[in-house]
Amino acid sequence: MTSNPRATGRLPREVLETDPSVIYVLDRDLRITYCNAAWDRFAVENGGMDLVRPHLLGRSVMDSVPQVLHGFFEDGYRKALSSGETWEHSYECSSASTYRAFRMLTYPEPDRSGLVVVNLILVAHPHNDVERQPHALEPGLYLDDFGVLKMCSHCRRVSRVGEPGQWDWVPALVEAPPARVSHGLCAMCVHLYYPDPG
Ligand SMILES: [Zn+2]
Repeated sequence: MTSNPRATGRLPREVLETDPSVIYVLDRDLRITYCNAAWDRFAVENGGMDLVRPHLLGRSVMDSVPQVLHGFFEDGYRKALSSGETWEHSYECSSASTYRAFRMLTYPEPDRSGLVVVNLILVAHPHNDVERQPHALEPGLYLDDFGVLKMCSHCRRVSRVGEPGQWDWVPALVEAPPARVSHGLCAMCVHLYYPDPG
């Protein structure tokens, strides 16, 4: 659980639009009101042209949840809406050739008008290559020339060196960080926790 955001209003869509994670926004009836550019990239890469944005808006997110999981997801979404607390959940979403695991962070909009659902990729590798975890095994992507890792103070995603705006969830670096860590904030957490007054 994460503490309540202090922001008011809604998360700026331009921040969500450029976030590398797949993000969608639900209204209080759990209908999809927004998906970001990363959503479209994911849909196209996975052969789901009927899943790109215009086709999804207004649909219930529950339509894309397997029946057996309806209770679980509905419960989680509803609790986040009523409590104002972030709901976190890990899940697998693999394709025929690739195993993928995600961590889903469900943030209530600061004004409680709905939910922002952020899907952070944890692991992606071919099914037959279970040892490979690209993020976890390539700390060089995250350490600068001085060996310093930059981590978001709130969501603990880490910043990729030389790729501004790319924040990844790397469990190994959260569990065993290098000696030198500088704490920063990703754009989404800035807007959630440190909004511009006025
Ligand atoms: Zn963050």
